[in-house]
Amino acid sequence: MLENLNAQPQDKILQLIAMYRDDPRDGKIDLGVGVYKDATGLTPVMRAVKAAEKTLWDTEKTKTYTGLAGEPAYNAAMVGLILGAGFAERAASVATPGGTGAIRQALELIKLAAPGATVWLSNPTWPNHPSIIKYLGMKSAEYRYFDAATGEVDFAGLIADLGTVAEGDVVLLHGCCHNPTGANPTAAQWQQIVDVLKARKAIPLVDLAYQGFGDGLEEDAQATRLIANSFPEVLIAASCSKNFGIYRERTGILIALGDASRKAVTQGNLNFLNRQNYSFPPDHGARLVTMILEDQALTTQWKTELEEVRQNMLTLRQSLAEELRRATNSDRFDFVARHRGMFSRLGLTEAQVNQLREEAGVYMVGDSRINIAGLNSQTVPILAAAIAKVIG
Ligand code: PMP
Repeated sequence: MLENLNAQPQDKILQLIAMYRDDPRDGKIDLGVGVYKDATGLTPVMRAVKAAEKTLWDTEKTKTYTGLAGEPAYNAAMVGLILGAGFAERAASVATPGGTGAIRQALELIKLAAPGATVWLSNPTWPNHPSIIKYLGMKSAEYRYFDAATGEVDFAGLIADLGTVAEGDVVLLHGCCHNPTGANPTAAQWQQIVDVLKARKAIPLVDLAYQGFGDGLEEDAQATRLIANSFPEVLIAASCSKNFGIYRERTGILIALGDASRKAVTQGNLNFLNRQNYSFPPDHGARLVTMILEDQALTTQWKTELEEVRQNMLTLRQSLAEELRRATNSDRFDFVARHRGMFSRLGLTEAQVNQLREEAGVYMVGDSRINIAGLNSQTVPILAAAIAKVIG
């Protein structure tokens, strides 16, 4: 049997990590993999998470199975964090292994409910989106998203393409902090997106992986809340990997908003999907998140830490934009300061990306996506000078 397997293409980011690891040069800079790092290059465990873990170690009496949908308290806390109050009656939800698990379960739910639907993806998007869709044998299409010339959202292209979506199609939207570009619609543009998709009778699927990494916890949820309030049916796939820094604990949630009269059946289908794929979702990370969100002191501590993370990335963005302005003597890269989240797509060619790696030891993804958190105050001017050199 196993002889029938073909080799799978290597994951580009994992390949990049391996190349970086094997590079003997001092001063190499890793802007590839999408995890937050502090100024020392560490992805720290948040103090609020550590505190919750300590309490959990002291108080946890059993590790028997939880519910198929996860602990109700986790689901309620996450629905509150993402949507605010007032959605309990419309929201069915399941805990999932990370945001990836939530995306996978969302797509599986779509496959059960609307097997013929096309899932629309931004071009570009997080590569796991098209890859899982292809693996599940679902139909997909792309809508224009990024204007490489300006580094901003190609809003005219986006609206034109979303205007061709068929009734019942699913449109995947990054709720905030678009990966890989870093470019995001304005509040007014979100309203226009909603208006077009409502007119087309489309179903939004929001991927929310960076709440709190852009403009703030509440601000980053605004687009998702607008969508939740505007459509009869919405799917939301959210991740706690980044904003709680619990990447390896695999903590996410899929929320399905629909008519209250359909909630029980929707919930049953979400439970069914968890059962088919892995039975009970991972509990540890979800429990830590619940403990943090249910305790006022821990919530305050977590919000303070998350805000430090966000501010650190904003400061790096501003100083990189300034250094690039100086080094290139142009405003070409000013968009770096306007982008939000962990990433910015710089708009360099693949040859320039390769040259940066080979000549300057700067590692970024082939599409010129950089992880802002991979920088610190020392490496910002080094990166700016290296970029100025390769663009000549
Ligand atoms: N969606 C997007 C857009 C992402 O960037 C990520 C993380 N790379 C995820 C979902 C899911 O992350 P995880 O499974 O680690 O929670």
